[in-house]
Amino acid sequence: MNVSEAGTAIAVATNSVPVKRILGRNPGPMTGPGTNSYLIGTQSLSLLDPGPADEVQLHSFLEAIGTATLKYILITHTHGDHSPGALALQEATGATLVGRKAPEVAGHDRTFVPDKIWQDEEIIDVGEYTIQLIDTPGHASNHICFLLREEQLLFTGDHVLQGTTSVILPPDGDMAAYLDALARLKNMPLTALAPGHGEIMSEPQAEIEKLIAHRLKREQKVLTGLNSLGACGLDELVLRVYDDVAAHLIPWAKKTLLAHLIKLEREQKISQANELWQLK
Ligand SMILES: [Zn+2]
Repeated sequence: MNVSEAGTAIAVATNSVPVKRILGRNPGPMTGPGTNSYLIGTQSLSLLDPGPADEVQLHSFLEAIGTATLKYILITHTHGDHSPGALALQEATGATLVGRKAPEVAGHDRTFVPDKIWQDEEIIDVGEYTIQLIDTPGHASNHICFLLREEQLLFTGDHVLQGTTSVILPPDGDMAAYLDALARLKNMPLTALAPGHGEIMSEPQAEIEKLIAHRLKREQKVLTGLNSLGACGLDELVLRVYDDVAAHLIPWAKKTLLAHLIKLEREQKISQANELWQLK
């Protein structure tokens, strides 16, 4: 059985609240197998991250919703592979839009307009289940993870991915904020992580600790790279710091490298002049 068939609603293992994953029809180098959308509940449903605007996928959602009612559309962040499908889905169902509006930078979907200003830690009581917003800026400044409280299942969007690591794109992406948000999740009693791309992760704390360690190891590589290369530019430094990354991903690695450099500069460990970075 091909469990990753796009458009098909596949049950996620839960105890009391049904959750289904519906894979998007957008596989690619940055989206892996495609964007995961999740449908939560039995009669009063919430759909998380409808993905790109796609009529075929919209039809799959409506089919999976069936005679139940879609109450909420939850948006982790407004990158193009997560939120643009919300508009047509909202028009078709009248569901309430939950999330934060797009920041004024390139790469964000401005068609998404939430129905109100949602607060960090706000709890949405759907009746059958409750969902809590957890602010997790870093990958994007408006990123939210959603906690299905009855299951302690966290929908992580692009904050924690399976099979790959999130790209942090400055100026909207922020490495220090990203690490702080990971540290916040580390203290939560979670049972599983449901990512925006990839498979469900059943050992949340181990995954989160691994991610924090991975970023700090990369940061150390930035410092040792600068120590041996002296003052250097992004193009030179990226090859040293991301020597384990495939060539076609280097342009993305460069952006995350810049996020590391900005963090280190703020911490006054390094400095920059004329596009050259060096240790202080
Ligand atoms: Zn994203």
